[in-house]
Amino acid sequence: MEWPRAFRTHSVSSDRFECYRGLARVCLAFAAAPLLATGCTRVNEGRPPVARRAEPQVHHLFRSVSPSAVALARVRVVELGRSVRGRPLVMHVFGHSNDAVFIFGGIHGNEPTSASVARRLIEHLRNYPEVLGGRRVAIVAEANPDGLAERRRGNAQGVDLNRNFPTRNWRRADGDGRGHGPTPASEPETRAIMRAVDRLDPDCIISIHSIPRGKHCNNYDGPAEDLAAAMTRLNGYPPRASMGYPTPGSFGSWAGIDRGIPTITLELPRDLSGSQCWRENRPALLAVIQPRTVYLSQ
Ligand SMILES: [Zn+2]
Repeated sequence: MEWPRAFRTHSVSSDRFECYRGLARVCLAFAAAPLLATGCTRVNEGRPPVARRAEPQVHHLFRSVSPSAVALARVRVVELGRSVRGRPLVMHVFGHSNDAVFIFGGIHGNEPTSASVARRLIEHLRNYPEVLGGRRVAIVAEANPDGLAERRRGNAQGVDLNRNFPTRNWRRADGDGRGHGPTPASEPETRAIMRAVDRLDPDCIISIHSIPRGKHCNNYDGPAEDLAAAMTRLNGYPPRASMGYPTPGSFGSWAGIDRGIPTITLELPRDLSGSQCWRENRPALLAVIQPRTVYLSQ
């Protein structure tokens, strides 16, 4: 039986509470609550398991917005793993297409506006799911929740996660002493992002950061020059092939250079608030979500 689109939801157990709540809001219209509850589990068939257990913080994420029942039903909340301190590493997934975009923020804990912009994008997609344009969009707002909680760049072990990816150019530490981890992909947060990319096989990736004004840019790795140029037309930030300093073990090196996935490191100007960054970058981020013909044809 083909279930109505609104019920093809939630391949995770962690958000089952919200799944049921969303279903409860609409089941009167169908007068078939027992069947709908079964539908929640049927959609798991043929899909990989993606989460392990109920998590209050995941529920909090759901309550932090005011979505309609339909919007609730269209988003899936995936727990990719746990941080060093045990915080859930949460990914919101919109849509079911194989044509996927992956966006994440907050990998550097001292760059909170990057997480803020990602959270605002999640809320926007909840409220305006029509902008998905048939694509699957997966967003991790807080890739380094321990670092964000303490406003520090690295994770709870002091490792700069954006130097911990298993790239061909990985090395143990750089000149300023920041830890890159004892081995490539030594950190659970790094491995969670890698799992997301492996699972999604995205067509393009946006990694959101922040940097002092003047250095803000659409930095690109891999075959992403056209995408960077399209974003430049919408956010005004210069496109850059390099940040001007070596970034061994960075996500851009791993995904963009080593794997050939078009990857943008969106460097927000650090003097702006999260809401200002969102307003300034919303058109560019929504353009990335559109099918690639939109930006390649400009
Ligand atoms: Zn950063």
